[in-house]
Amino acid sequence: MNYSSKQLVEFIGGECELYNEQIITHVSTDSRSLQNTGNTVFFALVTEKRNGHNFIQDLIDRGVKTFVVSQGIEFNGEGITIIKVSNTLEALQSLAANHRKQFDIPVIGITGSYGKTIVKEWLYQLLSTDYNICRSPKSFNSQLGVSLSILLLDSTSTLGIFEAGISESGEMEKLEEIIHPTIGVLTKMGEAHQSGFNSFEQKLAEKKQLFLNSDIVIELSEDKQDYDFPFSDKVSIENCSLCIKVLEYLGYEKALIQERINSLSSITLRLEMINGIHNSTILNDGYNISYSSLALSVQYLNQLAATFPKTLIISQIPESNLGDERIIQLINSSEFTRVLVVGEEELIGLENKVQVDHFKSTEELISQLSQYDFRNHFVLIKGARKFRFEQIAKVLEEKNHRTQLEIDLNQLSRNLDIYRNKIKSNTKLMVMVKAFSYGTGAIEIPRLLEVEGVDYLGVAYTDEGIVLRNSGIKIPIMVMNPEPGTFADLIKYELEPEVYSLEELDELVKDLIVLDRKEYPIHIKLETGMNRLGFIEEEIPKLIQYLKSQPEVYVKSIFSHLSSADDKLQKEFTLDQLTKFENYSSQILSAFSYPIERHVLNTAGIDNYNDYQYNMVRLGIGLYGINAGENNIDVKPISKLKSVIIQTKKLKNGDSIGYGRKTIANENMTIAMLPIGYSDGLRRNLGNGKFNLYLNGKPCPIVGNICMDICMIDVTGLNAKVGDEVELFGNYNSIEDVAKAMNTIPYEVLTSISQRVKRVYYKD
Ligand SMILES: *Cc1c(COP(=O)(O)O)cnc(C)c1O
Repeated sequence: MNYSSKQLVEFIGGECELYNEQIITHVSTDSRSLQNTGNTVFFALVTEKRNGHNFIQDLIDRGVKTFVVSQGIEFNGEGITIIKVSNTLEALQSLAANHRKQFDIPVIGITGSYGKTIVKEWLYQLLSTDYNICRSPKSFNSQLGVSLSILLLDSTSTLGIFEAGISESGEMEKLEEIIHPTIGVLTKMGEAHQSGFNSFEQKLAEKKQLFLNSDIVIELSEDKQDYDFPFSDKVSIENCSLCIKVLEYLGYEKALIQERINSLSSITLRLEMINGIHNSTILNDGYNISYSSLALSVQYLNQLAATFPKTLIISQIPESNLGDERIIQLINSSEFTRVLVVGEEELIGLENKVQVDHFKSTEELISQLSQYDFRNHFVLIKGARKFRFEQIAKVLEEKNHRTQLEIDLNQLSRNLDIYRNKIKSNTKLMVMVKAFSYGTGAIEIPRLLEVEGVDYLGVAYTDEGIVLRNSGIKIPIMVMNPEPGTFADLIKYELEPEVYSLEELDELVKDLIVLDRKEYPIHIKLETGMNRLGFIEEEIPKLIQYLKSQPEVYVKSIFSHLSSADDKLQKEFTLDQLTKFENYSSQILSAFSYPIERHVLNTAGIDNYNDYQYNMVRLGIGLYGINAGENNIDVKPISKLKSVIIQTKKLKNGDSIGYGRKTIANENMTIAMLPIGYSDGLRRNLGNGKFNLYLNGKPCPIVGNICMDICMIDVTGLNAKVGDEVELFGNYNSIEDVAKAMNTIPYEVLTSISQRVKRVYYKD
């Protein structure tokens, strides 16, 4: 991209409030990722999570000069251009559509329900020897993502490949204007994502809008293609056959197509995050390496780890060279402490403060890894496929336990958005992250929630809050059960206590006096029917009197907890709790002249008693994907528990299995051993045929008594091998199924998965 400010204004329309000529080469919509600041235009987008206008002064201070805004702003700075439009996203889209018009090259536009990104990446692999291809980074296919992708087209591009995704009707028309594909590709359509459309037909018609001006549309068909596919699964064959049709259309001979598809490799479309040695965090980016995918990962890393030391492990990049100015700039602007480079090529031009070491091969790097101090580092691993960087991740991994809880961070964000849409825009959101975020991750999940812009985090104990602060979390944290001996730490780490009794309050105030602290924020818990912690009605006058006489504290909020918001039959009781909450909290509110917030709803409450949001809600189990209310909210679990077969055994009639000989083989039976036992959270009473685990989608009963660290399953006739993956819950067993079998609730299933089970986080 290379436009003058004047051209920019012409492209996007709008009013120029201030004008100063600049050359614009970069677009930014996220203040956390900036390059080439002076030549960047910042579009201040307004979304549910973030208002870009709030970052303008900061960006001016960092050297950005050109802004597209839709709201009034105040700032200090010289030589600034401000373009005012009615909608900043639409302005960005106009820029992209106009940018697209500058290129008279073939452009492939891909849409459909499944496989868009795979088809895009395969077309890239198949065609990149003959074309200079500009493609969407990762799965950038939204209204914003498509615009940013198109802006990557430059004068060297000879082919564009872009994907388009939509979630409701009316969206594709805009994407067509931006991508304007000459070749259309429609991937497999599914029933999924139906909610924004009236019917399947409507969704299909909407998607096909992308091809309005295309010379050809390539779709799946029943015609037999006479090729040998290097894959055996149906999905890969379908995706591959779409690619073949594109190549045929572009005039490739059959023999050459066959040769190219033989070398296709399967594609990882996600970034994996695991805990590493020495309290480090490893981000293993399995996605194809390119400048734009590196930029995305670096941006994500910057969000997560702003204040932590960072290491980049990088290989040569096939399509460009490491000396590429953009890559140097990217690394320089991201404050890496060190960069480890694998390959023949040298990385030169980095700022002096960065330590750069070179290695000829991945093996050489691995043999030297122990020399490095990774304490508290965030390590981004990004290599071309042939360098096999997954080996590096294995070495740096903290736990090698084969049983793992896989956590889908994209689903977490989707669930969060679903609840955000259920609350009013001025209702604050507290997310409960007690008990290691319901078993899914003590710091990984809270970190992400902070990036997502939630207002508050809630934990049970002071220790849990300290862990969050030590991992760099800055947003307010409420501690529900701060035990008296921990107040000094609580105050030191700026954690906000729940106060549920006068004795507790008195202890806290004493510590605050010693530390000479005034107006420390506290949250008053009221008893309304749960009969757990909290002030009862009779104590309220005394509480008010005490609070008025102690300047050490101020009441930030008043809250209560519903005992049965998930139970229709208890509606009368719940409404009574809500009435009591209103009455009791009003008494306190009216005694103070400063504003005090109120909150009472948990997940089930948000769903079933949505009118009672007050100033904030406290989201728990729903975020982790369990629907606790009566409406069919479309949340999905974020975690899957999997293990791996470590041995198989053939048994004979009469052989016994495990402790106590509770299962006896009665035919020629094959069993498999898995490294998970009751100490990992697999309840012992699920043994002896009471519960099935799944191998390749086939049910396998647990046989014998479950041991502390191991369990055995029946895999007779399933051709099971060592290394095969077995699901405990995920696609085949739901968390609710496991809870039912254990005779408990999903909360207990999630929180009893032991800490020795490795957590692996994935992100598209
Ligand atoms: C755990 C907890 C919540 C969240 O409950 P969910 O049912 O998981 O939504 C809310 N408020 C308090 C006080 C809690 O302890």
